[in-house]
Amino acid sequence: PQCKSTSLTENILLKNVVLQRIVDNIELDCPYVLAGCSAKVPRCDLENHKQLCPYSTAKLADKQQQKLQKSIALLTQYTETAIPVSDSDLYDLTKALHEQFAYAKARKCFGKMKTKNSSLEIVILQGHIERDDGKYTDALRLYDQAYDMTTSPSQRIELLLAKGRMFIKIAKYIEAKDAFNHALDILHSNNQSQTQKKAEILNSIGLVAKKRSDYDHALRAYNEALSLVSTDSNLRP
Ligand SMILES: [Zn+2]
Repeated sequence: PQCKSTSLTENILLKNVVLQRIVDNIELDCPYVLAGCSAKVPRCDLENHKQLCPYSTAKLADKQQQKLQKSIALLTQYTETAIPVSDSDLYDLTKALHEQFAYAKARKCFGKMKTKNSSLEIVILQGHIERDDGKYTDALRLYDQAYDMTTSPSQRIELLLAKGRMFIKIAKYIEAKDAFNHALDILHSNNQSQTQKKAEILNSIGLVAKKRSDYDHALRAYNEALSLVSTDSNLRP
């Protein structure tokens, strides 16, 4: 109270300038690190970075929107002009539209292809589109069709896993269990030493058993899965 200075307020005198500087310079992860930003930002710049970060939710939504607009423009060009377009271009666009959740448009694009059932890849993509659009009966038919098109054990296993996961989604647990067990049989009968894949299947079998309140079976499957995976595997909780 005896100090006559007008510029030095109590507030400024109490502020620990050194500590403040240290805190300001602590480098923090960008809040959008999970979206892919690897920037380390001094604390004092964080607000600024958040506004400009290319991985911010708003910026990403913007980017996705732009990508989708581009795909839609391409679809218009493919479907409403006389310019010839190859099946492989149509396939790529169908895939992009599927990834952008534009299922009806993906289906429309797919419909323009001249040879629809010629390759496994195409039938599987079609199955994924129907599955993600909630058309489970169609998806199932396509997965079965794809299954018959291949004799590769690993492709068949992937298809059975896709089927099983879809059955879980629609709460058809018996069917899910059958699909996963079938996948496991194929793995065994081909003497494939794919421990990661086996663990993944066992994990799914455990999940189905849990859904069916069959806890003994679930525990057994989970334990077997755990005994297979290495410590660095992402299957391990
Ligand atoms: Zn960032």
